[in-house]
Amino acid sequence: MTDQTNGQDDFDGPAAPEHEPSASVEQAGRRGESEERLDIFEGVRGQDGNPVLPVQLKQGDMFAFSCHKGISCWNKCCYGADVIVTPMDMLRLSRHFGIRPIEFLDRYCYQAQWEKAGLPVAKLRMTGEDGSGPCQFVDDEKGCTVYENRPVTCRYYPLGLAAIKMKGQEGKESFSFLVKESHCKGHDESKLQSVAQFGKEQGTDEYDQVNAGWIDILMKASSWASIGGPQGREIAPKTQGMFYMVSTDIDAFRRFVFETRFLETYEIEKETVEVLKANDAVLLTLGFDWLKNVIFGEPTISMKETVLKEAIAASREEFGAG
Ligand code: SF4
Ligand code: SF4
Repeated sequence: MTDQTNGQDDFDGPAAPEHEPSASVEQAGRRGESEERLDIFEGVRGQDGNPVLPVQLKQGDMFAFSCHKGISCWNKCCYGADVIVTPMDMLRLSRHFGIRPIEFLDRYCYQAQWEKAGLPVAKLRMTGEDGSGPCQFVDDEKGCTVYENRPVTCRYYPLGLAAIKMKGQEGKESFSFLVKESHCKGHDESKLQSVAQFGKEQGTDEYDQVNAGWIDILMKASSWASIGGPQGREIAPKTQGMFYMVSTDIDAFRRFVFETRFLETYEIEKETVEVLKANDAVLLTLGFDWLKNVIFGEPTISMKETVLKEAIAASREEFGAG
């Protein structure tokens, strides 16, 4: 079902997945870049195919919504749902079941391609031959049986999250949007709340923090894809595999860091190494920093000076400059 890349034996230096184009190539590409919007959690999860046009909302904007047991549409949104399993979801849900992320991935997820970014992501497998059946975690009576660790897409619903990157700007701006599907009666309820209040209630902040690097990469890759990709080509399959590995299997990435030449190659402080051993969320941050460096040439992680010198000497030798 899954297409895991075990990086354990793959790391052979700083450009392990494959040399992606350098930062200067990226700069050149960026000149042709336009405003780019990426819908991260789309909020449209049901099958009625009739969402009202999304409305853009700021943190302080109010909307009426309430979901509770007893509502006539109870669980309807958990049928045929399109739920991305983000890196943070993978950590929380595997812990929920007392299994490792790779087991969770194999049992409950499938690999899909996020076409806009040209990168693979994991999604929750729905039941039914065509995937239109109920989510594996829904119970007719109780509702979501993994509620305290439910995926962030489910937490956001009925809000979606999008990010916009403006032409010539480094950073991105995130905003929410409200999606109304005809089967969801929560919109007819009178409970008023702001976007910020709703996010607090649903506990999305912690997820957004841990997922930030993953979102950055999807955003940037989708921006590149809109101009034909770096040097007019897609992100290399091996790099895509590494992105999927970091996103879904933290144990494989841990082996990649601690059982290859990774720590001999990059400048990582001793204290940080200790934290990385014990904290999966911090390890994820390192993973996405490293991928940003490999894919986009961003200075998010530094190579050790000795390694740099060796690499420069090797290339001088190669070109006969002795
Ligand atoms: S994880 Fe929970 S809330 Fe999300 S679709 Fe499945 S049952 Fe519904
Ligand atoms: S109100 Fe909306 S979110 Fe709640 S159960 Fe009904 S369809 Fe799902």
